[in-house]
Amino acid sequence: MTKHIFVTGGVVSSLGKGLTSASIGLLLEQRGLSVKMQKLDPYINVDPGTMSPYQHGEVYVLDDGSETDLDLGHYERFTNSPLTRDSNYTTGQIYLSVIEKERHGEFLGKTVQVIPHITNEIKNVVKRLVDDDTDVVITEIGGTVGDIESQPFLEAIRQFSQDVGKDNCLYIHLTLVPYLKAAGELKTKPTQHSVGQLREIGIQPDILICRTEQEISREDCEKIALFCNVPIEAVIEEKDMDFSIYEVPLALKERKLDELITDRLNLSTPEADLEDWKTLLHDLRNPQQEISIAVVGKYAEHKDAYKSIYEALDHAGIHNRAQVRIVPIQSELVEREGPERLLSGFDGILIPGGFGERGIEGKVQSIRFAREREIPFFGICLGMQTACIEFGRNVVKLDGAHSTEFDKNTPHPVICLLDEQKNITDMGGTMRLGAQPCVLEEGSQAKACYQLNEISERHRHRYEFNHVYRSQFAAHGMTVSGTSPDGLLPEIVEIPEHPWFVAVQFHPEFKSKPTKSHPLFAGFIQAAVNRRASRGDSSTDQPVNEEVEALDLDPAE
Ligand code: GLN
Repeated sequence: MTKHIFVTGGVVSSLGKGLTSASIGLLLEQRGLSVKMQKLDPYINVDPGTMSPYQHGEVYVLDDGSETDLDLGHYERFTNSPLTRDSNYTTGQIYLSVIEKERHGEFLGKTVQVIPHITNEIKNVVKRLVDDDTDVVITEIGGTVGDIESQPFLEAIRQFSQDVGKDNCLYIHLTLVPYLKAAGELKTKPTQHSVGQLREIGIQPDILICRTEQEISREDCEKIALFCNVPIEAVIEEKDMDFSIYEVPLALKERKLDELITDRLNLSTPEADLEDWKTLLHDLRNPQQEISIAVVGKYAEHKDAYKSIYEALDHAGIHNRAQVRIVPIQSELVEREGPERLLSGFDGILIPGGFGERGIEGKVQSIRFAREREIPFFGICLGMQTACIEFGRNVVKLDGAHSTEFDKNTPHPVICLLDEQKNITDMGGTMRLGAQPCVLEEGSQAKACYQLNEISERHRHRYEFNHVYRSQFAAHGMTVSGTSPDGLLPEIVEIPEHPWFVAVQFHPEFKSKPTKSHPLFAGFIQAAVNRRASRGDSSTDQPVNEEVEALDLDPAE
């Protein structure tokens, strides 16, 4: 019988529910259980694919091409749970499906209502993850208890325990215990209110995970236990981790959270084995060198916009025993201040993916700087496309070379719309999405990293490198080192004469794990380490970080 864990959040958003759910997944897997993870998001959009990164942070893409919430990135980095389209549902999808059923006549004669039709649909998407091989399904409910949008989801998970039996369901509530400086103490009242609201709906949480900046005293834990009607051992403190998010599972294990869960769900398992995790934290704590990487993007000031890229850089740092100092820089700032001032001193430059024209010229200038100064360069998706624009303009001398995404009438469309995209007008879920195979060129930098002939990577784009320019580019020193198996779509370009200049049409950051760095990120950071070593470790070479951070721009669409 598959067991169910539901994770809800209260008091405020951004408590790290995704991270906590992923940590629970990891702890249970390390106890030998097979776990599936899922997130239910109460907003109305069908998926986050059409939302601005300012609204939603990064869009996380799965192998099957679904565009999902960034919490699924945590799930994949922490666990081995197979993620598919069924791993992320929104209110939009739930309603869409119910309305389609209504149009097909499935509810003929009936009034279609939130209870039971919407709640049944929600319960069905949870049940979709149940099978003979799955011990535990962890379902995280997005948003905060008390939100209007969350109500049908909470009602559905309340009913769930009636359907599958109380012993097969566990409710974990994540809450905030704030420290009031003026009073000099932690406050438990917001937690009491939040649990009060849950209990009004009919959900009695089994475990409370209390996010806090300061240690919670035994006395406060007793108070929370008493008012919230949970045993004291089920009040789990989760303190802010100053050093790394990868400490969270260990901290929760120390508080015996995994034991509490398996006891409560009657799962008999051995202790969690966290040796790999401890090794990774040891390596993270004991780097042998420090390097700095500039990430030049349109949304540099938003900490979640390039989440998986920052994580993948950290993983590659762990792999190379290097502390990676990541400095996000707005590409518009490069246009204003010039690359020399902002980018001198970095050991590597990365341009991430993106959409829209703002900041494109800053990216082009940054790439030129990396190419001419022989600074390791890694371009991802739009980062690859801008690398081709730069090379086309400044090396092949194609005046006005551009992408037709930004200049429909460019004389040299080095980046153009994919054929399959030409007749598409709908915006949602219509890009070239998900895992696609790519064949690697013998002797290339890419092949040296992967050590494979064929790879599979995730995509999310409408435009591509125009193969008409392929031989011209190669003659000038930029080669295509990876293509679709039919040889038609260029997937990777590189400059063999450069110490490390690799740009990819796909998103390798979605397949990096802390315990297994992605080969291209590992290669990029290795090149950055080599550059630092060859320059000698001079602190005067450090970038002007504080100044860069101080020069902020207003967020725009
Ligand atoms: N805007 C570009 C395209 O659609 C790049 C997309 C991306 O970076 N994800 O092809």
